[in-house]
Amino acid sequence: MTDSTGAVLPLNPIQHYPTLVRGEGVNVWDDTGKQYIDAIAGIACVNIGHGRQRVADAMARQAGQLAFCISNIFANQPAKDLSERVARITPGDLNHFQFTSGGSEAVEVAIKLARQYHVERGKVDKSLVIGRRHCYHGATLGALSATGMVPRREKYLPILLDFPHIDPNYCYRCPYGKEYPGCDMDCATELEAAINRVGPERVSAFIAEPIVGSSMGGVVPPDEYFPIIREICDRYDVLLIADEVIDGFGRTGKNFAIEHFGVVPDLMTMAKGLTGGYAPMGAVAISHRVADVFLSKPAPVEHIFTYAANPLCSAVACEVQDIMVEEDLTNRADRMSGVFFDHGRRLLEHRIVGEVRGRGLLMGVELVRDADTKEPFSPSVGLNARLAKTALEEGVVIYRGGGNIDGKRGDHFFVAPPLTISENEIAETFRRIDTAISRVERELPA
Ligand code: PLP
Repeated sequence: MTDSTGAVLPLNPIQHYPTLVRGEGVNVWDDTGKQYIDAIAGIACVNIGHGRQRVADAMARQAGQLAFCISNIFANQPAKDLSERVARITPGDLNHFQFTSGGSEAVEVAIKLARQYHVERGKVDKSLVIGRRHCYHGATLGALSATGMVPRREKYLPILLDFPHIDPNYCYRCPYGKEYPGCDMDCATELEAAINRVGPERVSAFIAEPIVGSSMGGVVPPDEYFPIIREICDRYDVLLIADEVIDGFGRTGKNFAIEHFGVVPDLMTMAKGLTGGYAPMGAVAISHRVADVFLSKPAPVEHIFTYAANPLCSAVACEVQDIMVEEDLTNRADRMSGVFFDHGRRLLEHRIVGEVRGRGLLMGVELVRDADTKEPFSPSVGLNARLAKTALEEGVVIYRGGGNIDGKRGDHFFVAPPLTISENEIAETFRRIDTAISRVERELPA
């Protein structure tokens, strides 16, 4: 007899997943009535906070009018309106868009657009995308090929594309054993060496998050990093893809984090904050230089997603972007950053906190066995998982990460609350995180 009981296959069979039933502002509640501060805004997406009736109303209106439209036969007004709204805040001439259902799809599209851009110009051997070790760009196979996180890749290696990776900027543990300033920015110039190793005629694009989000926890590059990267990309006819899936839409105190570094990429991927987590949607912003190759030839793009430029998701995104502007949430994130990091830096008093880093309302906290030597805990301690679980018990959601040193060692967590968070809520968030760290510290071997 077949069992007809349905169940969601859990990502991790030994993990307990509380069932969430409601959200409001920075808070969410589970089905036992327990309240949590959502200090990661879903996962850096609910930038406008939970439970906005206005967004639900916009969604209902659009669902009643036109919920679906296939984008290789029809255009729709909400997607046009959204292009206008996003173009107002993208840097430079990133004014053309392709819309997807999320960040991984956006990265897939960027990889394909970069490849086709070169093919249309007769450079048919350009196909490789250079990514960075330990950095994340999505779960689908192209995006995972550009991703450099060992734990996410290792079981799928035989089905991934053979994309090269370079070390990321990571001053806390410089891969070159140097110290900034006075380090010659080896992490940036390594891109040129990597291009030459595989042959410039084969390299299509380089992809990086301007500020590394969840995978390494708020790693900010030196100011020179992206200008050097931009210059190398230009020299070798390699497109620069900025992955703003986490960083975008105000998270770092600018509309897009690449603006901190005065550089305009050729392609920019975005998702999460685009719809504030209220609907699944991503996008690729395309510079004039790239768009023009497709428009002037003209050359059709050979892909279609059923939910691309979906009118319902686009209407939600428009409403969310209007809220972002009306409540000035990007500047608010910048203003609140001081208080946020004042509280965050107090965590350095714990013996297991090695570094607190980030920008705006995006913070990474690196955990170590010894703050002086930066020695990490053994992966067998499972530190980041223990802390995240304890934090949940204390009523605060943080996002854990690990393996940022060599694929196995290294523990950190990431804090990225809704951009609407108040000073009192920030204080309460860090009070709970502080309690969780103290509890874990007491249980750890000396
Ligand atoms: N790129 C970055 C930098 C991300 O952080 C993520 C997801 O967290 C993705 C891409 C993939 O986005 P999605 O999970 O929406 O597919």
